[in-house]
Amino acid sequence: MSQSSPEAHTEAHTEAHTVGRVLVVGGGITGGVLSLALAQKGVEVVLVDLRESLGGVGHGITLQGNALKAFRSVGIYDKLSERGFAFSHLRLKTADGHVIAEIPAPPMGGPDLPGTMGAVRGDIADILAEEVVSAGVDVRLGTTLTAIDDHGDSVTVTLSDGSTETVDLLVGADGIRSKVRGMIGIEAEPKPVGMGIWRTVAKRPPEMDCSEMYYGGPKYKAGYTPISEDLCYAFLLEENLDRSFVGEGPRGKELKERGQGYGGIWGEVRDSLSDDAVVNYQWIEAICVDSPWHRGRSIIIGDAAHACPPLIAQGAAMCAEDAVVLAEMLTSGDPSVTVEDVLPAFMERRFPRVKMVLDNSLTLADWEIHPDTPGADPGRIMGQTLHALVEPA
Ligand SMILES: Cc1cc2nc3c(=O)[nH]c(=O)nc-3n(C[C@H](O)[C@H](O)[C@H](O)COP(=O)(O)OP(=O)(O)OC[C@H]3O[C@@H](n4cnc5c(N)ncnc54)[C@H](O)[C@@H]3O)c2cc1C
Repeated sequence: MSQSSPEAHTEAHTEAHTVGRVLVVGGGITGGVLSLALAQKGVEVVLVDLRESLGGVGHGITLQGNALKAFRSVGIYDKLSERGFAFSHLRLKTADGHVIAEIPAPPMGGPDLPGTMGAVRGDIADILAEEVVSAGVDVRLGTTLTAIDDHGDSVTVTLSDGSTETVDLLVGADGIRSKVRGMIGIEAEPKPVGMGIWRTVAKRPPEMDCSEMYYGGPKYKAGYTPISEDLCYAFLLEENLDRSFVGEGPRGKELKERGQGYGGIWGEVRDSLSDDAVVNYQWIEAICVDSPWHRGRSIIIGDAAHACPPLIAQGAAMCAEDAVVLAEMLTSGDPSVTVEDVLPAFMERRFPRVKMVLDNSLTLADWEIHPDTPGADPGRIMGQTLHALVEPA
């Protein structure tokens, strides 16, 4: 991944690139970063999203150094770092709060970025939305696509408002339930991993200084990440409960009851929750679309192509890396490089890295569900994965 200077973000580039006009479906982290990266290089981008606004809502996220590096390359890291909470290690604890191990976060974004940063998801979405608009991306909200007509050297996409767009490339960045995936003929669906996650945002106790995970308690795992000076994001992983549990609402009392049996700072955070604190429960799902993720002049990236259980906190990092790498390869400034050259080369660069993260996340999920598995050692596999990601994307 190249690192452009902040000045480069405002400069309209005039080189002839591999693509001149791109349609991106989905304005989450993947589609937002891709749209921004392409627009910064002078590519015309149409971004469509079903939502009525690109801004974000609550919840927390753990961003490893490689995610921060991708964000810096499109110029949004500085704004994010003003709001997020940076730290450089991860602690594993027993259910009653005793330290088992402290794992330093390797410099996945390079030596000049923090190893990890906790952030409010809504902050990332708001910053991205602002930058995408000011970079000149043509954003169409409340919109999806209804048809794709591939002409070989271009693709015409029909949108839900009846309009059509003829572009050099269609990118499906429309998340784990991607519509583009099926429309371009890729048959793959996400599958439940066998665990569910309770999540909430709470007040950060001052002694909470990094992500911590509590093992060996009554549920699969409890943990938290500080996401700002004042806030933290706390979670509890357990088995897949009945589908009727899935959703979000004033369920603090329920989480307090289900989270009994954990001490330390986790117990403190749990006890601080009000009975009507907003809590979300969802099943953890995963998908790994085999290579290639492209058909003709269309490609899927981000969660549309690969979504892993969030046990190494690398999902969004892989999404942002996909976006930055694809944009970089499509805008080399050499017009003799064709879309037909770029897409297979992109797969060669991305697939092994994404698959390694996905496979290791699935192994971790399996070990959390079956902790007596011989050789199960979550700290080792987590450390190995993060060290492997020090290699640039
Ligand atoms: C419980 C949980 C915790 C996680 N924690 C972490 C973490 O700590 N760290 C980390 O790095 N990752 C984490 N992840 C993973 C991370 O959140 C995702 O990998 C990432 O947000 C996916 O981004 P995306 O843009 O590909 O997809 P999405 O965020 O799903 O965005 C897709 C966009 O496409 C739009 N869209 C969908 N369908 C259509 C359509 N048909 N037409 C038009 N628009 C459409 C949607 O409105 C949305 O804006 C976690 C995931 C889960 C489930």
